[in-house]
Amino acid sequence: MLYRLFSSLSLKTPASLFRCIVHAMKPQVLFVLGGPGAGKGTQCAKIVEKYGYTHLSAGDLLRAERGRPGSQYGELIESYIRDGKIVPVKITISLLERAMDETMKENSEKNKFLIDGFPRNEDNLQGWNTNMDGKAEVKFVLFFDCSNEVCINRCLERGKSSGRSDDNKESLEKRIKTFLESTRPIIEQYQKVGKVRTVDASKSLDEVFAEVQKIFDKEG
Ligand code: UDP
Ligand code: MG
Repeated sequence: MLYRLFSSLSLKTPASLFRCIVHAMKPQVLFVLGGPGAGKGTQCAKIVEKYGYTHLSAGDLLRAERGRPGSQYGELIESYIRDGKIVPVKITISLLERAMDETMKENSEKNKFLIDGFPRNEDNLQGWNTNMDGKAEVKFVLFFDCSNEVCINRCLERGKSSGRSDDNKESLEKRIKTFLESTRPIIEQYQKVGKVRTVDASKSLDEVFAEVQKIFDKEG
């Protein structure tokens, strides 16, 4: 009866309608990538304000886990961060997945996420694909493109007040190297399938956000 009603209204069948609703609720993800200091976190905050995304910084989640009393991963995370190396994906993905679940449990309509600073290498990407395939949809990668020199100077400036153990010259050289060797190839993979939106991130905060808005007004 219900079925006939749906078909006669040339609407979807109950089953496909259900699939449709589930799909609508599925996390819609944008990966935000760029070198250290490219402005990912700053721009994400502005995107949240204007476009209603939830910002999840993989680095912030790792730092929170590092500081959580009783965490079995605290020391491991600290040593990876200080050396500019990438934490094993098992840890990062569990933090990301939990954060997405908690956000959507609180408000099921909040299913648009900016995942900032992830995936940073092949291990991250494979971990994502293995764990999240079918569970979340990656719409595109927002890439903040910035020269190494500008990145380093911004982080050294930030280091004066950030209290971060990796905003110093020694860690920064390692972070830049990791970005060039491990993260750029990930961006290139997404580029090949037309899924990268690039923004020139060396300009001022407002100029960069103007470019960001052009992208989001069209497809955010
Ligand atoms: N990190 C990681 N995996 C991630 C994200 C971050 O291992 O998915 C670690 C890595 O050591 C990195 C550090 O956290 O250098 C800081 O990352 P964050 O994204 O906070 O730095 P940003 O690039 O924003 O300066
Ligand atoms: Mg950041």
